Amino acid sequence: MTNTIKLYDSAPYQTTFEATILSAEPVKKGWTIVLDQTLFFPEEGGQSADDGWLDAVSCKWTVTDVQIKDGIIYHSVMIPEGNKTAEPGMKVFGEINWQKRFSNMQNHTGEHILSGLIHAKYGFENVGFHLSENIVTFDQSGYLSPEQLAEIEREANRIVWANLPVTARYLSPEEAKDKTYRSKIEIDGDVRLVTVGEAADPVDVCACCAPHVARTGEIGLIKILRSEKYKGGTRLTILCGERALAEVSKRQEQIERISHLLRAKQDEAYEAVSHLYDENAAQKERLIGMQEEKIRRLAEEALAKKTENIWIFTEGLDPLPHRNLVNLLIEQNDGFAGVFLQINDMEYRFIIGSGTGDSREIAAILRDKYGAKGGGKPEMVQGSVCAKKEDLIRVLP
Ligand SMILES: [Zn+2]
Repeated sequence: MTNTIKLYDSAPYQTTFEATILSAEPVKKGWTIVLDQTLFFPEEGGQSADDGWLDAVSCKWTVTDVQIKDGIIYHSVMIPEGNKTAEPGMKVFGEINWQKRFSNMQNHTGEHILSGLIHAKYGFENVGFHLSENIVTFDQSGYLSPEQLAEIEREANRIVWANLPVTARYLSPEEAKDKTYRSKIEIDGDVRLVTVGEAADPVDVCACCAPHVARTGEIGLIKILRSEKYKGGTRLTILCGERALAEVSKRQEQIERISHLLRAKQDEAYEAVSHLYDENAAQKERLIGMQEEKIRRLAEEALAKKTENIWIFTEGLDPLPHRNLVNLLIEQNDGFAGVFLQINDMEYRFIIGSGTGDSREIAAILRDKYGAKGGGKPEMVQGSVCAKKEDLIRVLP
């Protein structure tokens, strides 16, 4: 079979086309169809495939996936039940989902501008790219600080506003030898170069197989949403064009709701949250102070009884004061000391310690009698148990 003619190469803005079916195979889910030519961009170079429809004699088939192998493009097609099925030689009319395609063009050209600027300024390479409906990320071979990225983002948007041309053309392997361009892989055969800016003074030249916008102004907006350290370099999450606008609107709605909750102006939300945070920390400190007073009182009362082992049943202690109470008891008492914290009607969380004995023995009793969970070391065990207070007292030594 000859290579599929890639109509999207020379006509990235065309949305409909006519083609002839070269082969049609029924597969597990639907059909795999090869056409003599297509506008459907296959999944390639990190970009997800176009979707859309194929029409054939009053039938509308849905194209759900498109793959390329050895120059031949395979369309995964769902043919509704009762429809005429596909046959070689049949003429079809194709239509791509333009909204998705144009969004991919905006985001892909935006990525080229950012990668080109980063390469020119810092010499880093783009070593990974992923463009699908829910994510646009690309990886740079070196680390970029938030300040450096803010500057790159400003510069990239200036290129958008300058509304520069974006062109694509094929070079022969000989011609490609003398050209400098960014490329992720060694390319066999003809190289397709995408140039952003005037050919004499380009912003970026990169080998790429995907459709791009014709002028940078169509990208609308380039927004870097996130940067993270990744494999010794930087992974950037970006959005461009319509998707960037949708994201900004979504975040705007979030900040509106947050500022409403805080009863603060939107641009003062950070200060309001900081204030709330400090207030919360102060309250926590007060609470810990109260709990410390409580454990001192509980320890005093228990130690005054001068029993060999001490068992306290209480509630409303955080994990740290809970442990501190046990420590207070075993410092001043030689036997076992356990604090059972009531969680609900039937459940206790316990910490048991001893300066001299093996606390695991007590945990074993609770496990055997009441299926307690937990464990620890001879000096301290912790866990939880479902039993009534009077039943627990009966089995404790
Ligand atoms: Zn590209």
